Order: sequence, then structure tokens, then C-alpha cells
Amino acid sequence: MASTIRGVAAMGESARGSGDSGGLVLVLNSGSSSVRFALLAPASGERVLAGMAEQVGTPGTELRVRRYPDHVVTEQLPEGSYQAVISRILGHLPDAGVRMAENGAPGPGQPHLIGAGHRVVHGGERFTASVLVDDEVIAAIRSFSHLAPLHNPANLAGIEAVRAARPGLPQVAVFDTAFHQTMPPRAFRYAVPEEWYARYGVRRYGFHGTSYRFVSERAAALLGRPLTGLRLVAAHLGNGCSVTAVRDGGSVDTTMGLTPLEGLVMGTRSGDVDPGVFGYLADRAGLTIDELNEAMYTASGLQGLSGVGSDMRTVEAAAAGGNERARLAVEVFVHRLAKAIAGMVVGLERLDALVFTAGIGENSAFIRSQVLARLGFLGLTEDAEANARHGRDSRGRISLDGPVTAMVVPTDEELMIARDTARLTAAARRPSRG
Ligand code: ADP
Repeated sequence: MASTIRGVAAMGESARGSGDSGGLVLVLNSGSSSVRFALLAPASGERVLAGMAEQVGTPGTELRVRRYPDHVVTEQLPEGSYQAVISRILGHLPDAGVRMAENGAPGPGQPHLIGAGHRVVHGGERFTASVLVDDEVIAAIRSFSHLAPLHNPANLAGIEAVRAARPGLPQVAVFDTAFHQTMPPRAFRYAVPEEWYARYGVRRYGFHGTSYRFVSERAAALLGRPLTGLRLVAAHLGNGCSVTAVRDGGSVDTTMGLTPLEGLVMGTRSGDVDPGVFGYLADRAGLTIDELNEAMYTASGLQGLSGVGSDMRTVEAAAAGGNERARLAVEVFVHRLAKAIAGMVVGLERLDALVFTAGIGENSAFIRSQVLARLGFLGLTEDAEANARHGRDSRGRISLDGPVTAMVVPTDEELMIARDTARLTAAARRPSRG
């Protein structure tokens, strides 16, 4: 919920006079047991509705809908299916004054739904950008389900539920992996038998791509420089954490791999470990593959190291209170993050800016300060006052004047999805010239 609603206050103002035609996009993030959504204006980012259904697939399904600015309703949906959840979400649109197609064409500037944009986790090697959804795209997303067994089937359930409820509504799929398809083979290949790649697709795909695309564009705008020519390292630090090298607006390296388990220390995920650990523990502790996977995904990271929780706020507070395990968790988190950032510079050959984003990146001045202190050799510095204010009064900048800028750039994946949806549906409506 937190990230669904993030950034709304800041966007409300800019909506006025933005020249929005009244077209709104329904952005959906359908997970294995939850559906997050937002109805927003793609030009301004202004939200009309947002919310989340939890325990989807069970009789305990609960839908929480916020109509901006502050009207919140909670509904029980005993039927529990994605279909029931999506139908109910769509049912809230007319109440919010949004014109639906079946009620006739909207007047100029009248709020109306122009399309649905879906977050889709895995697009394999096929999808290098967002696409309009058709039967063939649905089949392709399904074909990548083995790469994201928890996510892609749920993302598809959301797409199919919208299709069933509003067959004529254009839909767009926006992939977490697409942004990273510009990585060169030296960055995406693992040194494993060729057949693992050729037959089973074992390579680094990378995730958080929609966030990286958004913050790269925003960072360039804040720096007053075109993306072409700019060399950035961006650190998306939420519950899942990764770092990406962005050169000329495209990803050239990233820390997450075949799965979102590789790389940094995360809330409950281990990040990198010696792959030998699996055989060792299977042997010594009799753990199965499923048990090992479960432990690496849900009982590791900040949670495993600190013992106090997976939330960085809890870990920081415990560390400040003298808890030794929490202190170590912060140290390992920061050491691995700084090491990864430095490693990303290899693919850039020069660093212009380091961008912090997502929950920890946007809010923890302490973690940012610790990381910057370890990266002085790259030319990074900290402006302690600007950092304490999260760069809000300094166009994101939290470093002192110098050749390398450290900055905080709040991410907004929903807005990126809404923009892609508006762009692709507009292109589809335009008559072809042939
Ligand atoms: P998600 O990946 O689920 O979208 P978020 O981007 O919302 O997650 O980030 C969640 C993380 O951000 C949690 O670890 C949370 O503790 C951390 N976080 C949020 N606010 C702060 C803060 N003020 N200080 C430190 N960490 C914070």
C-alpha cells in the first residue's frame, strides 16, 4: 500500500494545467495473493483511485479502495477470484466520476478510462519494451512462467480478468526485465555450461527495470542533461534491492540475475552466496531444494542477519540501541551495497551520478551516508544537510559540488506504466498511413 500511494501529494499540484485530456489509466500489479491498483492521469501522475486487494484466491479476500483525496472503503469479497477483484475495482470507476466506454463517448476533458497497464515480472529475452496485449503476447508471457512461477501466472490472471470484464479495453504489459535487455553478453552471461543458457535460458535478466527507467529519466531532467551521454549507477533499495549501471539511458549491468535472489542483501533475501552452500547444506543439514529456496528467499537478508526483522527502520533502530546482530546486519548491507556500486562503474568507465531510490534509498539518510562514506575514491561526497532533507530542496542532490553527483530520486513505477499505456494505446488509435 505504501508504495501504491507514494508521491501522490507531490503530484496533485502539477496536475492542474497539465493539459490532460481527461484520459485515465488503470495500473494493475497482480501478485500471487494480492492485487495493487491505481487509477491515474498519465501526464500529471495525479491519482483518482488507488488500493489493494489482499488474500486474493481465498474467501477472506479484502479490497481497500482510496478515492482521492481521503475517502477510503474496505470491502469483503468472499468469491476471492482475480475476476471478482478486478470487476469490483472497475465498479468503483463510475462512482469516482469516470466515464466508461459503454456509457457513450466522453466530453472534452471528462475523466474516462483509456486503457489498463499491467506490471509483468518476466519478459524473458523476447520483450525489450512495453507492448499492447494480444493473444500472442499472452501466450508469450505464459511461456516465461517457468522463469517467474510466482509472478507471471498472477500477472496474466490480472490481464485475463480485465479482458473478461471489458473486452474492448486496450491493455499494455510493462515488463520488469525489459529495461535490462540492452546488457551486453559479458554482463548477462554466467560462466556455466553453454547448454544451461541455450536450452534453459540460464542468464542474468535483472529486475526493477520500470523503476530504473523512471529514475534515470528523472535524474537526467534534475541534472539538466540529456540521458544520452549520462553515466549513472542507480540503487533501488526497497524490500527487494538491486543496483544497475545506466549508460546513455540503457542498462549495461545489474546485480539481480536469473531470479531476484542474486546480488545485494535484501529484507528477507540473501543476495549473493557461494553456490556451494546448497550442496553443503543438503549434505550436512539434509535440507531439500525447496527448503533451501524458502530459507534464502524468506529467512535471510536483514531478517536472517539481525533477528529483529526485515524492515530497515526496525533494524536501524535496534542497531542504534546497541543490538549487535542488527549492527552487523547494517554493516553487511552497506558493505555489499558499496561494493556493488563500485563494481557497476566498470561497465560505465566513468561515473556522473549515483541515484538512490525506493523505500530505503528515498528515506534512510543514515544508509546513504554510510554508503557515500565508503565511496570517496569514486569522487562521491555527502552534503549532510541536503542528505538529511533527502535532497528535497536541492533537485535531489545530496553531495557537495564536484564531478560526481549523489542524488535521491523518488521512483514511481505506476506512473511509468501509465505513461507507456497512454503512449501505446494512442499509437494504436492513430490511423496507419499506408
Ligand atoms: P517494496 O519493495 O515492497 O515496494 P518499498 O520501496 O516501500 O518496498 O521499501 C520498503 C523498505 O523501505 C523497507 O525495508 C522499509 O524499512 C524501508 N524504509 C521505508 N522508510 C524508511 C526510513 N525512513 N528509514 C529506513 N528505511 C525505510
